[in-house]
Amino acid sequence: MQSKWEENVRRVTPYTPGEQPKDTDVIKLNTNENPYPPCEGVRKAIRDFESGDLRLYPDTDSTELRDALAERYRVKQNQVFLGVGSDDVLSMAFLALFASDKPVLFPDITYSFYDVWADVYKIPYKTVPLDDNFRIDPDKFNQPNGGIVFPNPNAPTGVLESIDTVEKIVNLNKDSVVIVDEAYIDFGGVSAVGLVEKYDNLLVVQTFSKSRSLAGARIGFAIGSRRLIKYLNDVKFSVNSYTMNRLTQACGLASVLDEQYFCDTVKKIIKTRERLKDELLSLGFTTTDSKANFVFASHNKLRAKEIYESLKERKIYVRYWDKPRINNYLRITVGTDEQTDKLIEALKKILGERGVLNERS
Ligand code: PMP
Repeated sequence: MQSKWEENVRRVTPYTPGEQPKDTDVIKLNTNENPYPPCEGVRKAIRDFESGDLRLYPDTDSTELRDALAERYRVKQNQVFLGVGSDDVLSMAFLALFASDKPVLFPDITYSFYDVWADVYKIPYKTVPLDDNFRIDPDKFNQPNGGIVFPNPNAPTGVLESIDTVEKIVNLNKDSVVIVDEAYIDFGGVSAVGLVEKYDNLLVVQTFSKSRSLAGARIGFAIGSRRLIKYLNDVKFSVNSYTMNRLTQACGLASVLDEQYFCDTVKKIIKTRERLKDELLSLGFTTTDSKANFVFASHNKLRAKEIYESLKERKIYVRYWDKPRINNYLRITVGTDEQTDKLIEALKKILGERGVLNERS
């Protein structure tokens, strides 16, 4: 029975994040974390951190981290917005920049948080179908809208669109804000940051969670025109001004300063990703040409759900969605080479037990 007060409650169906198993004895390839630790500078920042400083509120502007990002991405300080993970940045962007009565557009297969934010903030939205190869047709975004958001590379497909396609979408939609969610851009794509000088309606969102191995620290940022960033900050400071804590700011700064480690780690992951794609192919899988730190794969004989469950029994966690168009795919995070070997070994056993090993159609 529903109580009267419940009529006044905002009810939403929350986003379901990937499982975080308590068991540490698992191979965790289900939430696109980086298998390598953050750079040495982060370790030093934590070691040298003065716990006594925690009695003071943090710098609301995260000035040092913001300035380091501005320098790294060759933009002005007031073109950088910081948040507690890119989920926080995207959530603020939905709240601040999608205030129209017209629907916000995003692809039908995409990051499954977008419709949740739209629902919680009561923003109308409409999905735009990807083609059969999970590609975006920019012309399909040429319709009345109150804003546009899409990841590049897309999630969970890993499919990368060219910078020309991104620019075409922005160019076709100069009357609304276009958000490009670049959570995975460092693993092989060209960032749209270079376009922000040309388009004041473009917001590029990135994260420290993947390429910088700092998912647990929670750092995300956006780069855009001064005006866009001001609108974002106005809303952020109307919700909570002290979002990013002192220790996180110090870790983020250390990470930005070690460009070499960042490049080396990304290179290692790309190399393993390409090997993983090849190995999966030889086991009878088809994969998209993912340019992210995960692969998106479907087997030609065995249902993805069964593979997902069998891997889990063997303590290997990957991600599976029982959703239209993608319910026969697995999203597998790229781990270390050793984890990849164990994954392939387990897949061989699973396929072998069912008599579908090396039966390529
Ligand atoms: N965008 C996309 C496309 C993602 O897959 C994720 C990771 N779940 C995020 C944003 C958010 O990542 P974070 O909040 O850790 O920066």
